Amino acid sequence: MSNCPLCYTEVEGSRIVYSTHNVYSMIPIAPLVEGHAMILPKSHKKFEDVSSEELNEMKDMLTTLKDRLVSSYHDKHPIIVTLTDTDHSSVKDHFHYHIIPSSGNIRQLMAKFDESVSENERLDLSRLEEMAILLRT
Ligand SMILES: [Zn+2]
Repeated sequence: MSNCPLCYTEVEGSRIVYSTHNVYSMIPIAPLVEGHAMILPKSHKKFEDVSSEELNEMKDMLTTLKDRLVSSYHDKHPIIVTLTDTDHSSVKDHFHYHIIPSSGNIRQLMAKFDESVSENERLDLSRLEEMAILLRT
């Protein structure tokens, strides 16, 4: 798709980290922290349109990047965030993962950037069960 900043042909080559036949990884235009990278299909597509072959290449690239981040940022463990292709994503309709080195867990990372998230909020078990049921049905 033209004018999509995530399509492979629109990204400056200097920001590309790895590239395979169908997928690639890059440094986002506004990384949250040093080491923040994205993994995505080269072509413009939503999650439901991504092929098994592309998903497998994304998984392999995720493993490669995770290992690289672990060796580069010894005190930070990679956290994988998938914003996918929804209205909440800054770029709609182009599926992608974010992989972010962080010294804290996912809640601590999110609290750093979203003030509505507290670092240590816990929910009652009944609320957790409701959430599990919602996902099961
Ligand atoms: Zn795109």
